[in-house]
Amino acid sequence: MWLNGLRLIPFYLQSILLLVIWIAFVYYLSNVILMVIKEMHEKPNRFSFIAGALCLDFVNTVNSHASERPGEKLCVFADLVRWNQEAKLIDKGEALEFLAYSEGNSNSATKILQEARGLREALFRIFQALDRRNTPAAHDLAALNEKLRAFPIRLELRSEGRDFCCERKSAKTNNDRLLGPIAWSAADLLASDRVHHVRQCADAECGWFFVDTTKNHSRRWCAMSDCGSHAKAKRYYQRKKKINR
Ligand SMILES: [Zn+2]
Repeated sequence: MWLNGLRLIPFYLQSILLLVIWIAFVYYLSNVILMVIKEMHEKPNRFSFIAGALCLDFVNTVNSHASERPGEKLCVFADLVRWNQEAKLIDKGEALEFLAYSEGNSNSATKILQEARGLREALFRIFQALDRRNTPAAHDLAALNEKLRAFPIRLELRSEGRDFCCERKSAKTNNDRLLGPIAWSAADLLASDRVHHVRQCADAECGWFFVDTTKNHSRRWCAMSDCGSHAKAKRYYQRKKKINR
């Protein structure tokens, strides 16, 4: 029908109109293609929750943590928010609130991110010292205690039928909500018997931690599908090399 209307317009105007529509279409298409390419390249880092303790999963937000070239996964404030959401510490609505907050308060958001990384590295050194049967450095324990003082726990009772459930709630500041549960989890783990079963992955560069809950305490790798299979492939290659000599 619009083609019939088009016939009423002089030919040169028809050509201009079709050209404008064509340019608009090409412009739209190229934008869509650019967006898809951008999204492919900006795929966020994937987080793993394999440690069996919240604080250790947080410490494991660096790839090859024990190597000379560690790979940071908490690159921007939004990564910290996403980690909290994936760890089920905040819901989607809260995550959006945090992201909106960071839009207007980028300096504060950057400070929280730096604080998170600082806490993570202190925990890394504490658990690494324990894994090597050393005493953690006093300044690292002091850094954790400082966070515990800064993020007090609020207990809230909830009735469940005839029973009661006691939930830990953080105060309402952003630092409390994003970092409090991590600090509490570290204090719980360090003060429990489970701390004796915290292991660092046997891969020399990986550096990830986990609580070994296997019956005979024989877990060596953060994930069998990752470092475990790398080691297996390496052993196979070395065996083959020996045979071929
Ligand atoms: Zn590993």
